[in-house]
Amino acid sequence: MRKKICIIGSGTAGLQLAYSLKEEFDVTVIHSNSSDKIRNGRIMSTQVHFGPTRTRENRFKMPKWEDKTLLKSIHMTIGNQKLFVGKLKEPALSVDQRFYFSHCLKDLENKGVSFRLLRVNKEQIESLADEFDLMIDCSGKSGPLFPFPIEKEYSPFQVPQRKCIVGYFLGVKPNDPLGVSVTVLPEIGEMFEIPAMTEHGPVTILFIMAVPGRELDVFKEIKHVKEFTNQMKNITQKYFQDIHERIQQDIFALSDDKAFLNVAIKPVIRKPYVIFKNKLVVGCGDSVFLNDPITGQGCNLSSYCAEQLYETLIQYRNSIWDIRIGETYWDRTKTFVKEVTEWTNAMTQVLPQHVVQILLAGAESQKTADEVAEWFANPRKAYEAFFQPSNLH
Ligand SMILES: Cc1cc2nc3c(=O)[nH]c(=O)nc-3n(C[C@H](O)[C@H](O)[C@H](O)COP(=O)(O)OP(=O)(O)OC[C@H]3O[C@@H](n4cnc5c(N)ncnc54)[C@H](O)[C@@H]3O)c2cc1C
Repeated sequence: MRKKICIIGSGTAGLQLAYSLKEEFDVTVIHSNSSDKIRNGRIMSTQVHFGPTRTRENRFKMPKWEDKTLLKSIHMTIGNQKLFVGKLKEPALSVDQRFYFSHCLKDLENKGVSFRLLRVNKEQIESLADEFDLMIDCSGKSGPLFPFPIEKEYSPFQVPQRKCIVGYFLGVKPNDPLGVSVTVLPEIGEMFEIPAMTEHGPVTILFIMAVPGRELDVFKEIKHVKEFTNQMKNITQKYFQDIHERIQQDIFALSDDKAFLNVAIKPVIRKPYVIFKNKLVVGCGDSVFLNDPITGQGCNLSSYCAEQLYETLIQYRNSIWDIRIGETYWDRTKTFVKEVTEWTNAMTQVLPQHVVQILLAGAESQKTADEVAEWFANPRKAYEAFFQPSNLH
């Protein structure tokens, strides 16, 4: 008999798991928002899917997207000094999660995956535990629903290190070559400019990471579209001249009235398995591995861990799914989670001098510039550059 799996949540982690597991197991996805509600709702993220994540999406036959906005490079600026454009080995892509998720949900439904529309609460998980062989908590940053223990070593912060301010805009002439632009303003924060695809065509995401209480942290009270747009104009004019010069003033506007977001994340890493009512429960994605978005790794880490969980469940498909399966999944993912997390946490602090030197060297050497660009696609390289510089040559 096929084992019965319940995935709670249909975001990045839950969707990839549903695609990968549906051939071998009976998969039910329980989620709190319908496809239409997601499609017509507020933006959720900025979601750059780098090469390895896109390879996994292909592996699990997830939908393909128009490639008008393939991101082939990382532009790096510190202060007002443009340092370099590093080339990515494989192109990345950012597709509005409203479009991405709602499309995948319909596609999975057509492929026979069962869905239940329900915001699961702590009481309901008891009866769900009786019904399924395994529950996978993919409830994202509003989770977890289960008591996965916190890994204190990887969770050093008591408060968010950045305010995340995001708008999807029309009327910004794209950077060239098309890519993600990173501007670091030491002690104040960062700006990420990301060309992206929405249901209605290309947009430019302007994503400010503001150090709380500093000069970029000026969006707190803003609730209205026009005010948000005006404040973004002011901020680009004052701090991000290169972007401001590419703004076409007459058409600069949010792509729709739900295309802005203001959020702050307190990073927390948890051990992604627990025994609940004598059964194994595992977590995947932000519910257990929640990092600050500053390095753009959340979707990529979720996708990596979802693949490792898939491999674990397939390998032990005929065994009893007990705590050993949870331990195996954590053994497979722990090193990568640690590398992504420690790199990400370090990026929210003052950059170490040797890292600043690498960035400055990127202005002189295309090879170094390309290596820095690759940090984002392969965070293990970033970890080495930050924490094991003597291993680099
Ligand atoms: C401002 C911002 C910018 C970001 N930029 C990037 C980026 O550039 N690149 C990148 O890789 N990552 C980025 N991230 C992180 C990325 O969006 C997340 O890491 C990723 O979406 C996590 O996927 P997930 O499946 O764990 O959670 P989500 O995608 O958030 O999905 C959670 C799911 O759980 C459901 N759910 C929650 N609670 C319940 C419940 N009680 N019952 C039923 N369903 C429930 C929700 O409806 C949803 O379907 C960013 C995040 C933010 C906030």
